[in-house]
This record gives sequence, structure tokens and C-alpha cells, in this order.
Amino acid sequence: MDLMNKIISLCKRRGFVFPGSEIYGGLANTWDFGPLGVELVNNIKQLWWKRFVKDREDIVGLSSAILMNPKVWQASGHLKGFVDPLVECKKCHIRYRADHLKENYDNKCPNCGSADFTAERQFNLMFKTFIGPIESESSVVYLRPETAQGMFVNFQNVQSTMRLKLPFGIAQIGKAFRNEITPGNFIFRVLEFEQMEIEYFIEENDWQECFKKWQKEMEGWLLSLDIKKDNFVVREHAKEELSHYSKKTIDFEYKYPFGQKELYGLAYRTDYDLKAHRLSFNGSVPHVIEPTFGVERTVLAILCDAYAEEGERVVLKLKPILAPYKVAIFPLLANKPELVNMARKVFDSLKNNFTVAWDERGNIGKRYYSQDEIGTPYCVTIDFESQERNDVTVRDRDSMSQERVNINELTSFLNDKIAK
Ligand code: ATP
Repeated sequence: MDLMNKIISLCKRRGFVFPGSEIYGGLANTWDFGPLGVELVNNIKQLWWKRFVKDREDIVGLSSAILMNPKVWQASGHLKGFVDPLVECKKCHIRYRADHLKENYDNKCPNCGSADFTAERQFNLMFKTFIGPIESESSVVYLRPETAQGMFVNFQNVQSTMRLKLPFGIAQIGKAFRNEITPGNFIFRVLEFEQMEIEYFIEENDWQECFKKWQKEMEGWLLSLDIKKDNFVVREHAKEELSHYSKKTIDFEYKYPFGQKELYGLAYRTDYDLKAHRLSFNGSVPHVIEPTFGVERTVLAILCDAYAEEGERVVLKLKPILAPYKVAIFPLLANKPELVNMARKVFDSLKNNFTVAWDERGNIGKRYYSQDEIGTPYCVTIDFESQERNDVTVRDRDSMSQERVNINELTSFLNDKIAK
């Protein structure tokens, strides 16, 4: 099995990611995060928010509505410009994004091999829906295709209530929707996803320097997740690739098992958006640098980076702070109440500080492997000696070494390790 299939199967088997609407045959390119997936996602979002909002004085948060007045999309240029080139295979009638066909399939239909396609037509990626009972042109609204416009239209509200001066940023984590023509590759390209975005407002003259700073910040973020430096690269967009609002864009591309593809983007959006919405600050229109981070692509990069097979075991070498469970508690034997009771006490003493798993099934070796596969960095076993010595065995996921730790010191022992 190739790496991608192994990851997809692990995600399903262990509760990270399930196919959307599965019991009804699924809904293509929708996925649900399971009990472990949602822990990983929450850890990513919390780390991001801490790093870019809480720890900084120049960036504030926002959570704006998904549905916005359609005039927003008219002004922002998305109604006209947020399009992809669509072609249809004349033989089997499957539709493709023309640039993907060129890039990945040498302009031949991957389904039937034909090279005969309809002419390109521009396809708008925004999902449409209606407000109220009447489905008419006047009740049309769109599901936002980016969170960014929420930050732009609130520019003045945020600036004035928080009394901000340039440079400052507005950050948001939220859902975005795109009617992608050729989605796929698991959670890489989906119809509904989450973005973590910052609109950073600056004086025009500062844009180059600020762009460089954000490139460093984004690289720092990736390294802080323990994503290996060799596994991502920066690629600048050619002129014809640039979005309708951008003067310069770079992509952080990750080497996914299915190829090197965009993970994050960094764009200089100029004063395009604020001008479009007729917004200004102290008589002039600030310019904008936009770092944007997709949550699903982050999850996928983290999983690809962390997946390892070592002899008998599969192990997710997640940075401890990202792991869904930080600690697993094992009473050595499930049928010895004195061990189970003591293990319960240890569990209760840790659960305020960590997400803790409990497992009392099967032999200890199997329980270790089971936790390795979901990336739990520490396993704690309570055995017969524990009662006499008031200690436990802590086993490390990566080195597989074991050491005995006094129960009174367990929280600070784990805290030290996990903070690293
Ligand atoms: P692509 O070229 O892959 O279509 P894009 O350049 O259109 O992506 P942006 O508009 O820059 O993407 O979106 C910002 C971020 O949102 C991306 O860097 C990515 O992390 C994420 N993203 C965009 N589209 C999707 C999608 N369909 N599924 C999952 N994540 C996405």
C-alpha cells in the first residue's frame, strides 16, 4: 500500500478522519474529523491563535459571518474573478480544471484517455444559496470562499474600537467553501475547509520588508510544528498565475505523497480590497499583506511528516503538543481492582492538565503499539510495585525507553517533556 492509502486507512481506523455522510454512500470530497482528528485540529488552531494573536500586540482576532451581503463579492471582484478554467471530456463527459489536466495528466482524460475536450469556460467557485422562501436573483447569497473579506469589511469597526495604528493585523479562523472542479487527494482539496488567515495592514512603502517578515513567520510556524525543513519549499507565482487582487504571491508547498503542492499562501493584496470597499484610515488607504493557512492541509502535512513504520509498529511521531492524547494510563491487569483503582487515581490527577487516554485491554505491548499509532507520546503503567513504591512506569513513544517516576512528580515530569 502506498503512503497516502496507509494514512487514509489509519485516519479511518483510529478515528481521525471519516468519509462524510458515509452511511448514505458518502458525499464526494467531504470528510468528517473524528474524536482524535478534532483534538489534532483544535491543537493546531489553538497554537496558531496563541502565536499570531495572543502573543502579539499588533494583531487582534475576529470571527465574522459566513454569509455576507452579495455586494461584498461584487466589490471584491469575486463574482467576476474567482473562477477556474473548466473543460469537459467530449468522450466520457467528466469535467476537469484545465490547468490541473495540463499539470498532472498531460492534457489527456485520466478516465478514458481521450484528448478531445470542450473549449475552456470560466467557472465561478462560489457556492450559491438563497435567503428566505423564494429562490430568486434578489435572494441569492454566497458561502464565503475566503475568510478575508470578513476582515476587510470590518476594518473600520476593528480599527476604531481597538484604537489601532498601522501596522496592525486582523486574524480569523473559520470555514470557507469552494465548488472545486477537481477536488480530491483526501483532505487536500475539499469543498468545505477551514482557513486561518491574517490581513496585515501597512503603509505602501513597507510592503517588501513586511512580505519578507511574514515569509519568515510562516516558515517559523511550520518548523514549530516539527515539519521537516526538507519537506517544504517556497515557490513564487508567475504573473499569469496571480489572483485578481495580488501583485506578488508565494506558496509554501509541501511534498505530499501525491506531489509537491500548495500548503499555504502569502500574498501582497495591495490596497485592492480596502479600495474596493471604499475604506480608508487617516485619509489614505492602507496596503495589505495576507498570510493564509489551510487547516486541512496542515493536518495532512503533519500526518505525512509524522508517519513512520519501525519494525512491527506504526508510529505517528507527532510533536507532543499536537498529539490528541498526551498520556495513556494502563493498569497492568484489568482484573486486579487494586491496580485499576490506583490507575484511576493517577488518571484523575492528570486529566485537568492533559488529554488522557485509558486502556486496560490486552497485553501491555499491544497497548503501547495502539498508542504509538495515534501518536500518544507517553504511556503510564501502574503495576504491582507501584503500590509499594508510589510510582509508575513512563514509556516514551519515540525512544521506547521506560523509567519509573514518583506519582507526586508525574504532572511536572510530563509537563516538562510536553512543553519541549
Ligand atoms: P489551489 O491553488 O490549491 O487551488 P488556492 O491558491 O486557490 O489553492 P488560496 O486561495 O490561496 O488557495 O487559499 C488559501 C489557503 O486555503 C490555501 O493555501 C490552502 O491551505 C487552503 N485551501 C484553498 N482551497 C482549498 C481546498 N479546496 N481544500 C482545502 N484547503 C484549501
